Amino acid sequence: MTSSNGSKATPSRSLLRENLVGKLRAETFDLLVIGGGATGTGIALEAACRGLKIALVEKNDFASGTSSRSTKLIHGGVGYLEKAVRELDRGQFNLVRDALRERSVLLRIAPHLANSIPLVVPLYRAWQVPYYWVGLKIYDALAGKGSIGSSRFLRTGEALERCPILKPERLLGAVLYYDGQFDDARMNLAIAVTAINHGAVVVNHVEVTSLVKETGRVTGAQVQDKLTGDRWEIRANTLINATGPFADQVRKLDDPHAEPMLSVSSGVHVVLKTQFDSPDAGLLIPETEDGRVLFVLPWLGNILIGTTDNPTELSEHPQVRGQEIDYLLHHVNMYSNLQVTRADVQAAWSGIRPLVAVPDAKDTARLSRDHVIVLSASNLITITGGKWTTYRKMAEDAMNFAVRHCGLRRGSSCSTDQIRLVGGARYGPQTASRLATAYSLDTPVAANLQRAYGDRAEEVGAIAAQGLDGRLAPAYPYIEAEVIWAARQELAQTALDVLARRTRLAFLDPAAAIEALPRVVELLAEELGWDEARRRSEAETYRQLGRAL
Ligand code: FAD
Repeated sequence: MTSSNGSKATPSRSLLRENLVGKLRAETFDLLVIGGGATGTGIALEAACRGLKIALVEKNDFASGTSSRSTKLIHGGVGYLEKAVRELDRGQFNLVRDALRERSVLLRIAPHLANSIPLVVPLYRAWQVPYYWVGLKIYDALAGKGSIGSSRFLRTGEALERCPILKPERLLGAVLYYDGQFDDARMNLAIAVTAINHGAVVVNHVEVTSLVKETGRVTGAQVQDKLTGDRWEIRANTLINATGPFADQVRKLDDPHAEPMLSVSSGVHVVLKTQFDSPDAGLLIPETEDGRVLFVLPWLGNILIGTTDNPTELSEHPQVRGQEIDYLLHHVNMYSNLQVTRADVQAAWSGIRPLVAVPDAKDTARLSRDHVIVLSASNLITITGGKWTTYRKMAEDAMNFAVRHCGLRRGSSCSTDQIRLVGGARYGPQTASRLATAYSLDTPVAANLQRAYGDRAEEVGAIAAQGLDGRLAPAYPYIEAEVIWAARQELAQTALDVLARRTRLAFLDPAAAIEALPRVVELLAEELGWDEARRRSEAETYRQLGRAL
């Protein structure tokens, strides 16, 4: 197939959707995973790496649920550490330590998508100085060999230099510490593609609509391809429900009388307008009026603020309430000299937390963040809760559980902490300037390609060099070649897949994403062979979603 995109279309065979769907229809699997967020794709990679026959279906796109809507921190959780210290809770300490270990793994296996970030905790009262200094020293100590920088006290002047947005009045100083930051949706995609490269059959836009049972045991699932409308059955020895906040819905497909195990809460983030200079260091607001922590972070050239924690309804497109935005802005204005109003907000989105209910918890903020694994009478495994940072550990636990309780083959020994995610194997931080020169790209575009695609950035650059280097939106470094790459190598099937999760334009600037839409539809239509009706429906779908992701 030759496209008038000026290049020969050469998607790798293993990433062709029709090939993957063909396998889903034809084969019987050791394991079927439902849900393509961090948890599900993590399990797919773990299983594939053990040499098992594994299938995964995701009803929308990879990371279209909670996994693209996080604060984008790879962390042990300073908030959880505080809880551990206050309540002398050994379990919480272990959670923080495990997450810090995973932090260093992620920074190693995906060096293009994850980096360390300095974070500043401002101190306004005398007691806070020893409290946060000692606390963050404990955080460093728990990281052990995985430390990514020592925390230290900053005097007032130095604190303002590191974090110029801080309010100087009454500031006594700050503590500087380090955590990890990442591109959540692209990390999720990298895990999915790496799993495919290891033999997993992983497909997006395929929904599980019912479960199939034989003699009381789940043996497969009825699925529907949401792009073609086709329905069929996938057969598997073991099924894992990794549908995050939707876990109870899938448990009800198994047992209509299953008691709910989740309560869900909404976590809203806002992105400020581009004219606010993105700081080098992030700011941790140590205590909101309701006793939580908030972050003000540099993210892809913009400022990201989050997050809230309020009970909500389960939804694929959770709405953002005005008072949630006001809550964030109010606290930012208390601690920083940004002095922002709703008019300064460029984007806002909500992610749903799948919190595992603890019977006597009075509010969702106090529910456990650790993950749980439960087994139904018919052998359906459900894994939910946890954190992005610990997806790999969750995957290991889920697989070990399936081996112990469901007769899943153990498979070969393998450790996903040694497997670099796609783009990470030969990644070197110096490639941006070489890319810029080799493919005549401007510096921000080359830097974005390097960050997003790692050691595959050259291949995207080569597509750009075939006349596809136009920007999708003037103020952002995303280019046409990325749309082609997304369709060929990253299983992008809709314009929203490209705008929200292959690039992050829809999260950064929905208005710019809507402007970019016609060109994205045009490129995808040509690449994927869409007819006129499909082109129109794509354009319509995104407009209907409007500014709510
Ligand atoms: P999801 O990402 O929601 O994935 C579940 C998937 O299942 C969805 O894509 C859905 O479409 C699919 N699905 C549902 N039903 C079906 C079906 N019938 N058939 C097929 N597919 C189906 N963690 C951190 O470590 N760092 C952070 O900074 C951080 N920030 C956060 C901020 C917020 C606001 C929230 C809400 C969470 C944050 N977390 C963070 C936690 C982290 O984001 C989640 O723990 C993680 O993303 C959960 O992933 P998941 O795969 O379990 O769920």
